Amino acid sequence: MSKLVLKLGGIIMISLLVVLLPLGYVANKIFTNFYYSEVQSEIGELSQKYAHTITSLDDQEMINMFKNLADLTNKEIYIVDNMGKVIADSGEHKTDLTKEDMNELSSGQSIQKRFHGSNKESTHLGLGYPIMNSGTFQGAFFVLASINDIQEPIEKIKDLLLLSAVGALFLALGITFVVAKKMSDPLLEMERATREIAKGNLDIRVDISSRDEVGSLAKAINDLALETNRYRTNRREFLANISHELRTPMSYLKGYAEVLKKGLYQTEEEKQDYLTIIEDETDRLVLLISDLFDLSKMEEGKIDLQLERLDLTEVLDTTLFKHKIELEKKGLSLQKQIGNHIPFIEADGMRLEQIFTNLLGNAIRYTNKGYIHVKVWSAKNNVYVSIEDTGVGISDEELALIFERFHRVEKSRSRELGGTGLGLAIVKNLVELQHGTISASSQVDKGTRFQLSFPIAE
Ligand code: ADP
Repeated sequence: MSKLVLKLGGIIMISLLVVLLPLGYVANKIFTNFYYSEVQSEIGELSQKYAHTITSLDDQEMINMFKNLADLTNKEIYIVDNMGKVIADSGEHKTDLTKEDMNELSSGQSIQKRFHGSNKESTHLGLGYPIMNSGTFQGAFFVLASINDIQEPIEKIKDLLLLSAVGALFLALGITFVVAKKMSDPLLEMERATREIAKGNLDIRVDISSRDEVGSLAKAINDLALETNRYRTNRREFLANISHELRTPMSYLKGYAEVLKKGLYQTEEEKQDYLTIIEDETDRLVLLISDLFDLSKMEEGKIDLQLERLDLTEVLDTTLFKHKIELEKKGLSLQKQIGNHIPFIEADGMRLEQIFTNLLGNAIRYTNKGYIHVKVWSAKNNVYVSIEDTGVGISDEELALIFERFHRVEKSRSRELGGTGLGLAIVKNLVELQHGTISASSQVDKGTRFQLSFPIAE
């Protein structure tokens, strides 16, 4: 039996006992008092009536009639004279009428006494009423009721109470068992599932659909398994991509180093070409490694941003200046449209420059003729930047994927042009870390436009 069943059962039993015991005690008291006072008032009434009716203590006939009457109502009678001497007794009763009792009776008050029969069980409760004759005290008329008769229904009720209490306890025990089992079964299932998840079995799912806390815990466990699975797949793909990306430049490096080592070149010019390839590939490796390092830091949430109030246009200008030669080399013109009084934003200057460098680098890389258009404006609570080119463009299907790491529209072209496939993934992470947004729109062979927004600093 599960611990939960025992705990819950114990708690319910104890609370039931805490409620039932005082309740039983009080009920018992109420019933006992009720019966006693019922009998008391009955014999009280009878003794009063009889005492009023009787005229002479010598009237044996009348006394016999009272005896018969008492018999009919299952009562007994006991009559004494004004000295306490027994005049009539329908059984063999003994009682101790004291002086005080007689005084009370003679003063017109009724008294209550216990009467003992020949054996212990025949104890009676008696109520005596004074017999008066034209103002003088003649004696007392007692009507007696057996205590056993009073006790009997009380005992019956007690038994009934006890029986229903035991019944209630067993019923509660049964209900507790069923309820606790219903509660503990899903918990045990979830425990099994989480242990499986911990072992790495991430396809496991908990099949609990109740709409309560247990249900939402089950859903959270399923989500955890799903998310961990996604993370694992992602990680695997990431590692596979990394090793692939590293292998390509490495094989170039090894190949050309071998060529040079074995002197497999004809001219000095050829040798220089190979050395340039080795240099370029090394640069690419350094870039790839630094991009990877950045990205993994960002994804682990371990990157420290130096957020400060800054003028985005200044950062953009610096970046544009650094790309001047590249632009000129490709014969592209630059169109700048920067609004006046652009409000400050809260950002990390270096990281902002990294964002612009990546976007501008891409725009130049994937554009062969035309221009690059850069625009900055502010509206409502945001500062907006758009970087638009007249390059090769991206199809709609590809556009949805370009922010994923290692996703390249055309692998060989990107590689040829010095891309790592990580640029936009880094950009998106950096923009979001600075509370900004990024979106892209594009048309194949027409050009691409990236739009950024950053909240204005308070
Ligand atoms: P890469 O290092 O390959 O440029 P990115 O993550 O920066 O990697 O970009 C992902 C892919 O998106 C690129 O391979 C390229 O195909 C496409 N892309 C990015 N910017 C542009 C652009 N301005 N014009 C056309 N295609 C682009």
